[in-house]
Amino acid sequence: MNYPPKVPPDSGVLQLAAVCYGTQALGPGLRAAVWVQGCPFRCPGCIAPQWLSFDHPARRVKPEVLAEELLADPQIGGLTFSGGEPFMQARGLARLAKLARQKRDLNIICFTGYQLEQLIRKPPESSVFDLLDEIDVLIDGPYIAERNDGRGLRGSDNQRIIYLTSRLAGYDFHALPRRVELQVLNGQMMVVGIPPVDVLQVLDATLPQGVHLQAGLFFKRLVVNDERA
Ligand code: SF4
Repeated sequence: MNYPPKVPPDSGVLQLAAVCYGTQALGPGLRAAVWVQGCPFRCPGCIAPQWLSFDHPARRVKPEVLAEELLADPQIGGLTFSGGEPFMQARGLARLAKLARQKRDLNIICFTGYQLEQLIRKPPESSVFDLLDEIDVLIDGPYIAERNDGRGLRGSDNQRIIYLTSRLAGYDFHALPRRVELQVLNGQMMVVGIPPVDVLQVLDATLPQGVHLQAGLFFKRLVVNDERA
């Protein structure tokens, strides 16, 4: 884990909030997921508040290194980018996607708080179009808690599912059932996926005393507070 001083977002070095090396909860098939650190939006009800700050400790990694990590499992057939805001780190993610695709035929899904028109009209980073070139399905727009209908592979029903290529055209992302997976990585339990409405409250309610869910967008960590410490 590396910590600030920060690298400029345009440098191509990724600043990561989290990585999952195999999930079936964030798109078709078995995929790896990358959550970047830092988001310029503040959607009320965002469940990843600790991933919004650009100053929060984050793992810094070159795309070349991360590509190798993500492809270690030969069954991985796709990548999902989320955050944080992926388009604030467009250069690094575009390079990551390109490198990974040189080694394997992957499909790529990306969530963003921007609308596609905003990205085109006023790109927040110099490599936005390079990243758009790599994405098969873009899920765009801010999260609106009141419009979370508990359906599909998006947080709320204002978010559009935009097929930028035909590669995943056979999948109806609006109809995909939401699912979550409990995973253990580096001694921490994570909830990966887009939780159906109320699932997180149920999970929270079932945890033993002293164990709390810490919010994370589509990814949560169980943080054990050892009260003897
Ligand atoms: S919901 Fe997404 S776009 Fe909105 S503040 Fe949270 S991470 Fe940013």
